[in-house]
Amino acid sequence: MRHNFGAGPCILPQEVFKQASQAVLDFKDGLSILEISHRTPEFEAVVAEAVKLAKELLNVPEGYSVLFLQGGASLQFAMVPMNLLNEGQTASYLETGVWANKAIKEVKNFGKANVVASSKEANFTYIPKDFTIPEDSAYFHFTSNNTIYGTELLTVPVTKVPVVCDMSSDIMSRVIDVSQYDLIYAGAQKNIGPAGATVVIVKDEILGKTTNKIPSMLDYRQHIEGGSMYNTPPVFAIYVAMLNLRWLKSKGGVAEIEKENIAKANALYTEIDRNPLFKGTCAVEDRSRMNVCFVMENPELEKPFLKFAEENGMEGIKGHRSVGGFRASIYNALPITSVHALVELMQEFAEKNQ
Ligand code: PMP
Repeated sequence: MRHNFGAGPCILPQEVFKQASQAVLDFKDGLSILEISHRTPEFEAVVAEAVKLAKELLNVPEGYSVLFLQGGASLQFAMVPMNLLNEGQTASYLETGVWANKAIKEVKNFGKANVVASSKEANFTYIPKDFTIPEDSAYFHFTSNNTIYGTELLTVPVTKVPVVCDMSSDIMSRVIDVSQYDLIYAGAQKNIGPAGATVVIVKDEILGKTTNKIPSMLDYRQHIEGGSMYNTPPVFAIYVAMLNLRWLKSKGGVAEIEKENIAKANALYTEIDRNPLFKGTCAVEDRSRMNVCFVMENPELEKPFLKFAEENGMEGIKGHRSVGGFRASIYNALPITSVHALVELMQEFAEKNQ
């Protein structure tokens, strides 16, 4: 049996794979989901249900729109300043990793970026705590979960300015208070569905305030008006996301999955801290519940452990090249039994290599 610890695109529930394959063969009257028009009432119902489920699961308040867009989280790095920042204005960013860094890079085309704090000097192994967000910032941007380094910020920094969050790798994994944010974006390919769709949750009242000339495809208001169908949407990705959100609801929603996610993370971190062969790479208080990064006390054992783990069914545990070691991504759909299987292998390997 394979256990998929891949960082994304990642494991989705088996039942979602089965339902999605069925729809490829027969979605409606013998027609495949891949051959129907996005303007059919059946597909319009899919988008409506996906939006409704996302709103329900995250308890999205009135006054916010939920969009399914394309271009990945990476396009949001540019769309955010394009829609929210006027020339001459400054936006504040917390630099917690490569993705935050790429978001910062895009700002210069529209205004100025002010990096309020960075943990770059420590290869992003912690989340900076002491920083102030200037009150004249157009908005404050942070990445809630740093997929590559395995750090996560579970709280929202206190500020009076609009808050924008890249929640690509921990959206739908824990209960959040959406009213604390003005814009949340996330590439779908972790806890929402397959790659190809990007979810944006935006407070309507923050839009329409820039003088920037915004191409229609990059203007949130166009997509709100078009109900995520300003142009042909990623039909199959949205369909599978809808199935996955249905699955999440059937599991008891975000509050229930959060409990499982905590149990999975605890099981793995406990072993990393207990087993003398392994050590975590991040500040303990900032450890991610989604991406567990660790190395070996003796780097010479890393290759043999990787080989041993892969031979015994572990998939995708090699760490990102900028961190090395191992990264076990334990997203919503990964069962706790897979975490237990990895823990057992770590123990077995330690016994053999004392
Ligand atoms: N932000 C975070 C936190 C990510 O983990 C990723 C990709 N893994 C991205 C942004 C970039 O997303 P995309 O590939 O969808 O553009």
